[in-house]
Amino acid sequence: MKPPPFDYARPASVEEALALLAEHGDEAKVLAGGQSLVPLLNMRFARPGILVDVNRVPGLDEIAEEDGRVRVGALVRQAAFGSSDAVLRRLPLAAECVPHIGHFVTRNRGTVGGSIAHADARAELPVVLAALGGSAVAASRRGTRTIAAEELFVTHFTSALAPDELLVETLWPAAAPGAGFAFEEFALRTGDYALGMAACGLRVQAGRVTEARVAVGAAVDRPTLLPQVAAIVTGNAVEPQAAREAGEAASRAVAPADGVHASAAYQRHLAAVLVERVLLRAFASAVAGGPP
Ligand code: FAD
Repeated sequence: MKPPPFDYARPASVEEALALLAEHGDEAKVLAGGQSLVPLLNMRFARPGILVDVNRVPGLDEIAEEDGRVRVGALVRQAAFGSSDAVLRRLPLAAECVPHIGHFVTRNRGTVGGSIAHADARAELPVVLAALGGSAVAASRRGTRTIAAEELFVTHFTSALAPDELLVETLWPAAAPGAGFAFEEFALRTGDYALGMAACGLRVQAGRVTEARVAVGAAVDRPTLLPQVAAIVTGNAVEPQAAREAGEAASRAVAPADGVHASAAYQRHLAAVLVERVLLRAFASAVAGGPP
């Protein structure tokens, strides 16, 4: 299918992009990697009046380490993100999830900012951003604001970004020494969207969990932190029985709908199994000394 007609603008600066978004409001759509937007246009699920192509805006494709976090420009391609030295060293959870995002070719075009702004509950990067307690920086002519992941993702394909806002970068808390991380998902085929997904970060001292963050995707309407699951493993070692109980708590917390690829019951089962696995792996990694 072909997209409906639209106007096209290719701003050369953030200021120019923000002026276009302010002028056109919800008639405008930002075009980044196009790996989600172009299919939506072709299927006519999206009918913007104008595309604001930000691919030539300078300064949005940088990765920088600072103050216990990694700043990732919105236009950093997913493939570059996953192979970046800063991400491999300081964001092991993000590095682990990247190979699960679509295919090599979609990761070469698809951007980190586009995946976050698209707010697909089945997408890997939003779940990892939520698990790490990261945030996004949005700019508009009204100013700049930082939105925590927990407020950013509202529901299916809906973020807290206003129509005149451009996501300019995401902020990812770096791994603390001795922390352990794990990401797991289940998809029918490599590259397919996942039917279940879990991400976990643990801090461990003297063999006990001092802080746990567990997030799930796919069986929920947005990347969802599960504090009730984290509470089950906090204060103790993650033994198999505790991990199983935590997985069962996760399966009760998700709210999947029956789908063509999996029943709601099967998706709940996946949530249980994947959360159990990430807890056991993250704990083992932390006990072994955590990321380098
Ligand atoms: P675009 O498609 O350009 O934009 C997506 C949306 O975000 C649009 O609404 C756009 O207006 C908005 N947007 C983009 N950038 C900004 C910005 N800076 N500020 C404000 N709004 C912005 N994704 C997964 O996570 N997991 C998968 O398994 C997966 N499988 C895929 C398989 C295939 C075959 C394909 C084609 C895609 C797949 N994707 C998957 C989607 C892919 O990861 C996309 O790259 C990603 O969802 C969107 O990033 P993008 O840069 O392509 O954004």
